[in-house]
Amino acid sequence: MIVEMRRGASEEQVNGVVERAHTYGFETQLNIGTDKVVVAILGSDTGRVPTENFAVLPGVQSVTRIMRPYKLASREFKEKDTQVQIGDIVIGGPKVAVIAGPCSIESRDQFLSTARAVTEAGATLVRGGAYKPRTSPFSFQGLQEEGVNLLEEIRQEVHAPVVSEIIDPHHLDEMVEHVDVLQIGARNMANYTLLRAVGRSGKPSILKRGLASTVTEWLQAADYMLASGSAQVILCERGIRTFETSTRFTLDIASVAVVKRDSHLPIIVDPSHAAGHYQLVPTLARAALAAGADGLLIEVHPDPTNALSDGLQSLTFSDFRRLMADLRLIAQAMGRTL
Ligand code: PEP
Ligand code: MN
Repeated sequence: MIVEMRRGASEEQVNGVVERAHTYGFETQLNIGTDKVVVAILGSDTGRVPTENFAVLPGVQSVTRIMRPYKLASREFKEKDTQVQIGDIVIGGPKVAVIAGPCSIESRDQFLSTARAVTEAGATLVRGGAYKPRTSPFSFQGLQEEGVNLLEEIRQEVHAPVVSEIIDPHHLDEMVEHVDVLQIGARNMANYTLLRAVGRSGKPSILKRGLASTVTEWLQAADYMLASGSAQVILCERGIRTFETSTRFTLDIASVAVVKRDSHLPIIVDPSHAAGHYQLVPTLARAALAAGADGLLIEVHPDPTNALSDGLQSLTFSDFRRLMADLRLIAQAMGRTL
């Protein structure tokens, strides 16, 4: 249930709503806008209380029952687009963010050369996996702590924020210190302990869509993070499992439109994991920008033929530069910059 307060409602009136919610055993979260306050009433059984019980309270403008199972990520709770601030970079504003780098950090040279190449080409954030969630336990699992040290080194050397995946809440302290944006991978979208821990950290984060999750389940996962105190969540569409086998995953470009309509959170697209093949990545990247995505997450490697993970879907430096030139034109056509 969403309670919209009148413009200029007093703190006491807002507290009245919060207290009534508590008497029913519900939790609340406030969205304090520039001219009005919206109170989300949170609970799995808010349906048992009539909306009138809140509508009669002084200072209340309207009460809306949210039929969707997610609340804090919904546009009903927060109408204005959320902008996530990472240093002086904003994700969810007019400027499109390109995040690029290798799937895994393999060595200092490999990571530094990629970070330099992608930032020179116009990427504003650098990605690199230190802890890798691999389908097989026998595949390369990432350089782990050594990888985190390299993230810190490269972030200072290249002066760009770094994005890296967190797979275990035990790594939180280490990663919060050395990483600017924590990525929650597709395989962990429903790892609620991890979502809560990252949410509590308040760190900007990227929440990837689970490979067999609906948009609704994805936004419910975002609610876990928002309910834990974070306001800094970026959604990332990365393709889902369908009957189609010609791509690694099916890029659900429609989810960009659905998320833009139903949520205030920024959404970026990862064309690399969806395509699974470097030849297809530029087309999917261009389509994502044209669909209104706020950014892209793209895998780039200095020598894809010898990459330790996801070489087949990684762009070379020159492929990436060419793609950036195309993306600039599309951003411009969409009234955005890149
Ligand atoms: C990745 O970004 O390298 C990754 C593992 O992505 P996903 O979680 O989408 O599979
Ligand atoms: Mn990868």
